[in-house]
Amino acid sequence: MRCPRCDKVENGQVGNGQYYCWHCTLEFHGRPGQWRFYSVDLEGGLVELNAGEPAAVGATTVPELEAAIAR
Ligand SMILES: [Zn+2]
Repeated sequence: MRCPRCDKVENGQVGNGQYYCWHCTLEFHGRPGQWRFYSVDLEGGLVELNAGEPAAVGATTVPELEAAIAR
């Protein structure tokens, strides 16, 4: 299994359609062309990443978050 993000094979399956890449230190779920990426927080929870996905659901909140950070 190649990681769809970094194209390395340093990853393992952690569940049905769920993989963890040791290189990216990210989980990715789904199937080719429809991957969703998650970072794993310190408590083991998954935080979805939306990097590079135009018009993703919830993307409208990103400028608001960036504005909040810039203040
Ligand atoms: Zn990777």
